[in-house]
Amino acid sequence: MARRFDAIVIGTGQAGPPLAGRLTDAGWRCAIVERQRFGGTCVNYGCTPTKALVASARAAYMARRAADFGVQIGGAVQVDMARVKRRKDEIAGQSNESITSYVKDMKNAVVFEDHAVFEGDRRLRAGGETIEAERVFINVGARAAIPPIEGLDQVPFLTNSSLLDLETLPEHLIILGGGYVGVEFGQIYRRFGSKVTIVDHAPRLMSSEDEDVSTEIRGIFEGEGIEVVTGARVEGVARDGDGLRVTIAQDDGRREIAGSHFLVAAGRKPNTDDLGLETTGIETDEKGFVRVDDRLQTSVDGVFALGDCNGRGAFTHTSYNDFEILAANLLDGDDRRVSDRFLAYAAFIDPPFARVGASETELKKAGRKALIARLPMSGVARARERSETDGFMKILVDPHTGRFLGVGMLGIRCDEVVHAIVYLMHARATYRDVMRAVPIHPCVAELIPTMLKQLEPLE
Ligand SMILES: Cc1cc2nc3c(=O)[nH]c(=O)nc-3n(C[C@H](O)[C@H](O)[C@H](O)COP(=O)(O)OP(=O)(O)OC[C@H]3O[C@@H](n4cnc5c(N)ncnc54)[C@H](O)[C@@H]3O)c2cc1C
Repeated sequence: MARRFDAIVIGTGQAGPPLAGRLTDAGWRCAIVERQRFGGTCVNYGCTPTKALVASARAAYMARRAADFGVQIGGAVQVDMARVKRRKDEIAGQSNESITSYVKDMKNAVVFEDHAVFEGDRRLRAGGETIEAERVFINVGARAAIPPIEGLDQVPFLTNSSLLDLETLPEHLIILGGGYVGVEFGQIYRRFGSKVTIVDHAPRLMSSEDEDVSTEIRGIFEGEGIEVVTGARVEGVARDGDGLRVTIAQDDGRREIAGSHFLVAAGRKPNTDDLGLETTGIETDEKGFVRVDDRLQTSVDGVFALGDCNGRGAFTHTSYNDFEILAANLLDGDDRRVSDRFLAYAAFIDPPFARVGASETELKKAGRKALIARLPMSGVARARERSETDGFMKILVDPHTGRFLGVGMLGIRCDEVVHAIVYLMHARATYRDVMRAVPIHPCVAELIPTMLKQLEPLE
């Protein structure tokens, strides 16, 4: 006999718990299934712990730069990795505890701490029971994708999760992948004192961004002593004493890089391969992402997929927005859709890179007319005062409507500054609406109206 619920929520990432909270508040009886740690990737193995490490790494970096600001440290800067880890664990631990008690104390909900497997369209096996519901919400997230590299199964390689458990400093960390996970970890560990090599098969770092962004980040990284090897395919990994050797192939031949640790940061794989989807009519794409429509419904009526596993976003805020869309549509009589959102994200390197909407490359590729303004951070008073002038800001505007098409920003505070444009885009404001605004001096965002006066056609 199956135990019946009004809804089943699989996974407690960034969408499942708030959705279960809204549904149970509305009187629905919910089953919540979680096989690992409550809070999922963001809280335990993603945003929270990595941003705690970014803060420690920046403290070390600024301490080394202290003399630039007229401050004497009086000795070499030392990083105590055990304390760095303890601090990170405390911060992530608090978030995990808070979400754990939120889920476990939820009225009208039964929590199964187990791996859920579908046995039919809206029927699952979890906690030794068969459970059924009219509505099923899949929030199973993603994990590090492990590419088929010769010898990888013979070496103790790291992923974003296991790297966070290290208490000691890798002597030489080789990172496979120059996307946002790889670059964040690369700079973090370089600043802690490791030798770092980032290897990517793409011709440049952060290859989905504009070329000038990649070039600037590479310059910043090389300036900090990070070795960047692009256009390089990792062909094999082998043990070498206490460390390992990574064989890479480039246009001009093969070579080996010797290191102490190997981090695989080569993309994410949705957790859908062990979900029993073959017993259902729920369709996935060729990469395993659950196919959803604009309102997040899968190919099976009443079954929805939220967060990273639907391939429509790969961020905490997109997963949370998926929750908002479903809660609005199911409970508030609203009609919200995924296509209503402008995709925004940041890479929390230092200085941070942030983007919303289209890039210059995407607009050019689409043959779309645009106006562009670009300002180097050396032209920003606040950046000069802080002696942190790396990077630039780029704004793209539609010449006909005057609306913002996109922004890419690499520079101090740009992870925050970008929100000025995120909100303007959402409000469908035109650039003319902000040109007469009086911003605060000396701030990075004060340059936005100045930049808008310098818009010129995108060639
Ligand atoms: C290193 C790193 C840094 C990141 N930094 C940022 C950042 O700064 N900002 C940002 O916006 N995003 C960041 N992200 C991405 C962000 O963490 C995810 O997009 C976010 O957590 C959304 O995940 P989710 O809600 O889809 O599911 P997840 O958080 O992945 O949760 C899915 C949950 O489902 C559970 N589960 C899976 N299968 C089953 C099953 N069969 N049965 C029961 N339970 C199951 C899992 O155990 C997990 O707890 C980062 C990711 C990584 C890896």
